[in-house]
Amino acid sequence: MTRSPVCRLAPSPTGAQHLGNARTFLIAYWSARSQNARLLLRIEDIDSPRIKPWATAQVFEDLAWLGIQYDGEPVIQTERSEVYQSVLRNLIEDDRVYPCVCSRKDIDEAASAPHEHSVSASSLRATSGFHSLEPETTIYPGTCSSWHRGQAMPPDGDYCLRFRIDPHSMRLDDLVAGTVHCDPTSALGDFPVTRKEGVAAYQIAVVIDDVDAGVTEVVRGDDLLASAFRQRQIYDYLRQSPPQYAHVPLVVGADGRRLAKRHGDTRLSWYRDQGVHAKTIVAWAANSVFGHQEDFPQPDQTRDWTLDQWHQAMIDQFDWSRVSQSKTVITSPDPAELRV
Ligand code: GLU
Repeated sequence: MTRSPVCRLAPSPTGAQHLGNARTFLIAYWSARSQNARLLLRIEDIDSPRIKPWATAQVFEDLAWLGIQYDGEPVIQTERSEVYQSVLRNLIEDDRVYPCVCSRKDIDEAASAPHEHSVSASSLRATSGFHSLEPETTIYPGTCSSWHRGQAMPPDGDYCLRFRIDPHSMRLDDLVAGTVHCDPTSALGDFPVTRKEGVAAYQIAVVIDDVDAGVTEVVRGDDLLASAFRQRQIYDYLRQSPPQYAHVPLVVGADGRRLAKRHGDTRLSWYRDQGVHAKTIVAWAANSVFGHQEDFPQPDQTRDWTLDQWHQAMIDQFDWSRVSQSKTVITSPDPAELRV
């Protein structure tokens, strides 16, 4: 049975949303509307130490400004802790997780030969298409993995729960990154599904939320490509079919590094405050996604387009095979430099 298409926007209110986030939201929006999918909004606010109290309200403003309409009420992760806890209890019951008391320092020290254990771009390789991976932190060396169901738990607050990976090699057919292979033992390692305070961590919350919402397509930055393999392991555990993934290359500065403060102010709220029209951002994103296509509209055609016309044109021509696989480079945050 084919599932009715459901897409989602999943911003983390850890700071202001910037041009890179806008580009990802817009691609998700155009894709969703092109397939008459429901588009959900989920606020990923469980990463409590990094959450900024003002940032959620700003996400709503940013989306409205960009003309991105989502369907239904937003889902707020911090309101779903009980749902996550019930899956975590099952994971303990099934011996699929174990309590881990290691600190980051312990892990780095225990991985005696870090060059053999750390993720490198070569441990996840694209056999077609293009993708980039930032090397991740040290692979967990399994120090606490001898714990089994029924044994005493360490004191509350002293441990996170770690998911025991299935070591079989995995393959993912990404709509943008192409076919990617992964050897879970050398590329992922057992990974945390809670924080030390016991709250659910990103990897599990995102899967539970996407399963509950029936999400069929996940569009996000390719810094999360390795996470897709972790999340696929959780889908397998839950006996659910994973969504189709589209990991889009990140927007980078002239130095090739992901967009950050050092590249100047690229916050959407900043452009808004400067009186920049949202159309400028949408046209820039459209150009970065489809501008390499011969039939991309020329400036003399689009000069008088409204924001809605831009959206409709991108929705009408949306097709994953036409989406650029290259990184988008911002040489200057100056609105006049955002090439339209
Ligand atoms: N909240 C994540 C972000 O803002 C996205 C997570 C996801 O799409 O799975 O980068």
